[in-house]
Amino acid sequence: MRKMKASIFLFHRVSPQRDKLWDPLSLERFDEILKYLKSKFEIHSAEKILGESDKLRNKKSLAAIVFDDGYKDYIEYALPILKKHELPSSMYVVTSCVENGIPPWTYVLDNAFANTKKGKLDIDSSLLPTELRNTIWKNQSDKIAYAKKFKPFLKQVKDGIRRELVEQTINSLNDVETPQNLMMNWKEINEIKSAGTIIGSHTVTHPLLAKIENETEIESELYLSALKIKENIGEFPLTISYPIGSFDERVKKLAQKTGYKFGFAVEQTIYDSAKNDLFAVPRIELYNEPLLKTKLRINGTIEKIKTVLR
Ligand SMILES: [Zn+2]
Repeated sequence: MRKMKASIFLFHRVSPQRDKLWDPLSLERFDEILKYLKSKFEIHSAEKILGESDKLRNKKSLAAIVFDDGYKDYIEYALPILKKHELPSSMYVVTSCVENGIPPWTYVLDNAFANTKKGKLDIDSSLLPTELRNTIWKNQSDKIAYAKKFKPFLKQVKDGIRRELVEQTINSLNDVETPQNLMMNWKEINEIKSAGTIIGSHTVTHPLLAKIENETEIESELYLSALKIKENIGEFPLTISYPIGSFDERVKKLAQKTGYKFGFAVEQTIYDSAKNDLFAVPRIELYNEPLLKTKLRINGTIEKIKTVLR
């Protein structure tokens, strides 16, 4: 494979609805971002860039557009804007979410915290660090501040504890219903595939793979999701997108063994074939931020500033 660099931009949701804890990109911002990307880069699917780079004769820098999770707003809002700019993209789906229509646990938690009327979280506080043990909230902003510390904590603990705490939290904040119409089903995934979107895996249940101790469990997240995709769209996926960018050497090896060709992380840096291997491909996540800040992210300026300040 020839030496090359590529910027792979990661998106999740594009929607006119606003959200306090996890804001989707607005339609206007997504449109502006695509226009800017088109002016700066030659854009292909991530799979084409990584798998067929020898065939590319690019004059501009390479970039790709990818989506994680499988939200239905991709069809409704993102795809028409991508089509308008004639840009390809890839979508990595969580197969249990496709099957049962329930969003990933990360969304379910945000939604529960944002909408509960309860003033207290009833969970086993022995599993929590000291700063999270006071689970009584004085008001709405107190509760949101708690949620903003709680989720990062869950991303650090072993997967078994994370699952336990998520379950207890959802049981405690049970006055909130999880929306049932947010995720794409297989029919819709086949429709976007026919429209040119490349489908890949984002595991079965969206765990942090590097936090799973048992390798058989990691394997089943990787393999069973690929199998479901093969069963339902007719092709074994080329890409595994690691949920929350979590991977380690075990995950990389198992992903390769499962039959994937590429493993995607989230590192806010450009992929460089001389430095990164194909099972630790970094992606740059973009958010619903002012366009100027987004441009700094796209150009790597924010990461450069962070490096200087470190
Ligand atoms: Zn995800």
